[in-house]
Amino acid sequence: MKYIFVTGGVVSSLGKGLTAASLGTLLERRGLKVVLQKFDPYLNVDPGTMSPFQHGEVYVLDDGTETDLDLGHYERFTHTQLTRLNNLTSGRVYLNVIERERAGGYLGKTVQVIPHVTDEIQKRIHEVAAASKADVVITEIGGTTGDIEGLPFLEAIREFALEQGPHNAIFVHVTYVPFIKAAGELKTKPTQQSVAKLREIGITPQILICRCEKPLDKELRRKISMFCNVPFDAVIEEKDVDHSIYEVPLMLQRERMDDLVCSLLHLDKPAADMTTWREIIRKLIAPAHRVRIGVVGKYIGLPDAYKSVYEAITHGGIANDCGVELVKVEAEEIERLGADDLLKGLGGLLVPGGFGERGIEGKIMAVQYAREQKLPYLGLCLGMQIASIEFARNVLGLKGAHSTEFDPNTAQPVIAMLDSQLKVTKKGGTMRLGAMPCQLTVSSQAAQLYGAFVIHERHRHRFEFNNAYRERFAQAGFVFSGLSPDGQLVELIELPGHPFFIASQFHPEFQSKPHQPHPLFRGFIAAAIALLHQKPL
Ligand code: GLN
Repeated sequence: MKYIFVTGGVVSSLGKGLTAASLGTLLERRGLKVVLQKFDPYLNVDPGTMSPFQHGEVYVLDDGTETDLDLGHYERFTHTQLTRLNNLTSGRVYLNVIERERAGGYLGKTVQVIPHVTDEIQKRIHEVAAASKADVVITEIGGTTGDIEGLPFLEAIREFALEQGPHNAIFVHVTYVPFIKAAGELKTKPTQQSVAKLREIGITPQILICRCEKPLDKELRRKISMFCNVPFDAVIEEKDVDHSIYEVPLMLQRERMDDLVCSLLHLDKPAADMTTWREIIRKLIAPAHRVRIGVVGKYIGLPDAYKSVYEAITHGGIANDCGVELVKVEAEEIERLGADDLLKGLGGLLVPGGFGERGIEGKIMAVQYAREQKLPYLGLCLGMQIASIEFARNVLGLKGAHSTEFDPNTAQPVIAMLDSQLKVTKKGGTMRLGAMPCQLTVSSQAAQLYGAFVIHERHRHRFEFNNAYRERFAQAGFVFSGLSPDGQLVELIELPGHPFFIASQFHPEFQSKPHQPHPLFRGFIAAAIALLHQKPL
């Protein structure tokens, strides 16, 4: 078993997760089985209850774990199957240690950061290695070197690597080499200082990934090599990408990063075959078609809040050799200015998941526009609930129809909480989470797209379609095209007679990859292209 630890220096948001994931892509394509794992030094037990303003999207795994969005990159860039083991926060570590202490598990010893907290962290690396049966475990440490809260993790991986030996464990440090305009040059000092900080605690990185806006010339590489104590070839340039994050693996391959990793870890594997990956990039840079897709949400200003949704739309584009321009529309803007003005000229409309009342009426207006104007519509989770509310109000004439999430006293609760959920009060405990089976109606558009009748998709929601309304909806032409196997839960709906109007209670975006675009997104973009060419699907 080989281990790669990825740390970050100077500033956050350097794309450490993307770098780790891209290394995963390259190693997989050299024939290695790879697994990735993220350590987050904050004290929340998991990111499930954190606001998108704080932390971007919450990414959900098959087993229902709510995780950091970097795990989304890991799954999109590789074939790795992640579980609750693959994301560990300080909060979880301390909770485990303290619970064990309360249960008498330490037999009266003084419980300390070293060795008890560090042991708990190391245990998780072993668990991931054992469960995944991978050849290589890539562990990313969140935060920036120098943070107080990251120290136990760094100490834990230092000890771990020492025990494994130099050919079994290496450190990759992702750092920033800023361009100072006034001086007209790249500066290496922050990198030197951040590596010095790592060495102070006993970690010497073998590879430095230098994030920069301008090329690193030989002179600078030599300087970084000399003062950071890494070989010249191990100073790797990672410039900002021109078009897409999916270029990063190719960029790192050009810099021979995977060659270096393999030689340090004594892994004798052929070069990575990136032919199909290159074709993906070609479609992103020079696509045959182009469409504009509107996304109506309430965190539209935050680039990370709908990360997986934006990625899955891009994948839908890849599947159709189509470039997608995302038009991000603030739901409250629609309330102010109307849907016509803001949504005119789009090729398709998507309403993603969401919680809370703000912007709900704007989303309902947007869906009404898409339904009436025959604009392709894809609704995700809240997007399905909104489609149901809109249909109830404007087709069935059920005045004031709503979800009890937004209007607990509504006379027409078309979306409501199941009785079994009403009793749970603990945050994080009330949601339907993780992958569940869904049975598709044989004649549905969804079944055609999936090419299957039973699918497994990931959930993250509290509210459900209210079965008391099923018959009335069905009579008016609303199709329940996907149900839970017992028939009790509505998972997928569609409107026949509309070129593409599909909405799911689950989150298909979590299972889309550039090399395996999700069928619903593929169909959605195909419908947008068809609309553009005004030809029937
Ligand atoms: N707020 C809705 C619910 O809890 C939808 C959640 C979501 O879109 N993820 O059911």
